Amino acid sequence: MSTPLAHATRTPLEDAHAQLAAAVAHLGYGEGLHRMLATARRELTVSVPLRRDDGSVAVYVGHRVQHNLSRGPAKGGLRFSPAVDLDEVRALAMWMTWKCALVDVPYGGAKGGIAIDPRTHSTAELERVTRRYTSEILPIIGPDIDIPAPDIGTDEQTMAWMMDTYSVNVGHTVPGVVTGKPISLGGSLGRASSTSRGVAHVSILALRHRRIRVDQATAVVQGFGKVGRDAARFLAEAGIRVQAVSDVDGAVYSSTGLDVPALIRHAERTGSVVGFPDAEPLDPAELLLLDVDLLVPAAIEGVITAENASQVKARVIVEGANGPTTQDADAILAERDVFVVPDILANSGGVIVSYFEWVQANQAYRWTEDEVTLRLSERITAAWNAVLAYAERRSLTLRQAATALAVERVTEAHRLRGLYP
Ligand code: NAD
Repeated sequence: MSTPLAHATRTPLEDAHAQLAAAVAHLGYGEGLHRMLATARRELTVSVPLRRDDGSVAVYVGHRVQHNLSRGPAKGGLRFSPAVDLDEVRALAMWMTWKCALVDVPYGGAKGGIAIDPRTHSTAELERVTRRYTSEILPIIGPDIDIPAPDIGTDEQTMAWMMDTYSVNVGHTVPGVVTGKPISLGGSLGRASSTSRGVAHVSILALRHRRIRVDQATAVVQGFGKVGRDAARFLAEAGIRVQAVSDVDGAVYSSTGLDVPALIRHAERTGSVVGFPDAEPLDPAELLLLDVDLLVPAAIEGVITAENASQVKARVIVEGANGPTTQDADAILAERDVFVVPDILANSGGVIVSYFEWVQANQAYRWTEDEVTLRLSERITAAWNAVLAYAERRSLTLRQAATALAVERVTEAHRLRGLYP
């Protein structure tokens, strides 16, 4: 399946559109349907004024994009990062649509973001920003409308403030309006580590598929936040030697394998992996090029590019982050027979357990952590098997297969519902 885009892709939105175009071409869909699938259903841009702790006023820009609602309410994270812009949010919302369809949770796709650096704000300022943004987007969110969750730069505290702001405005407590909440507010056991658990689960399936022995495998993880940290921990627990990890401040390396629990304690204490005593410092750009079995990019978009893809030595790449591989790099990796497990499959553990959290909140009933973990592994394994079979039957890469399968499911829902009026 070749991509119909003639020019080199650059931005996440261009990559997302190129992936959709390739799926549409493969499925033989017409122009009208393609246009519908490519266009977001709703986009809201809001200004978020903040009274800073020193009394001055700053104004930030926030977005919420609902890409598709054919299969259910919109679902997707909220990102706080200086790099946020409307096009990035559009790309991430589209990927959420495909991810939810792929793992068969009854949601459409959405994403939100505020162009703000959370590291330069106090907790009180972040609370005021979150509450103001939530009230600005209040008309288009709700447990049956659009359900945010944590993403880069946000966490369970952010979700608690969102849930409270929404609840105060509607006059009663609504735990189902967000997922990724603290356990004591109706969060699900196992949600915090669910994306990472899914990443590790899929990594093991991918290594075995490539006939690489898990207990002898080596890995590197880019990003040491909510996804990367626990992904590294689960990989190490499975017997994989995690030789290097990085964060925005730098990278650390150990040929014999990092002591991941000790590294997590170091990062929690100091705010970074840098300076971990039992490892050597490493150029973060080198991390992506190390000669290992498994590379897990779990930080940001667009890190594996046409410039470095030919130097990547990992045999398997499992995308913990959304959009870490550009479309051009993807073609180079496929050519070189690097096995890439795409983001919409690899990091779907988060939305799967978000769905479980939403079900539990709506039923006011709590599952045990073992139940959550078991059902997560059942669902992600089913998605893995479906994508692998689809790819093999049609001679597609896993990304092409995952996107086409998801697009097919969204299209089926759209066709059954019909076009109103
Ligand atoms: P986070 O904010 O908790 O962590 C991000 C990490 O990436 C931090 O360690 C940061 O220092 C690091 N980082 C940022 N820029 C970097 C760079 N240039 N090089 C190396 N490291 C860098 O965010 P997160 O929730 O862990 O999200 C990471 C990725 O996973 C994002 O692409 C996000 O969309 C995706 N994702 C997250 C979830 C979830 O449940 N949190 C679910 C699915 C996908």
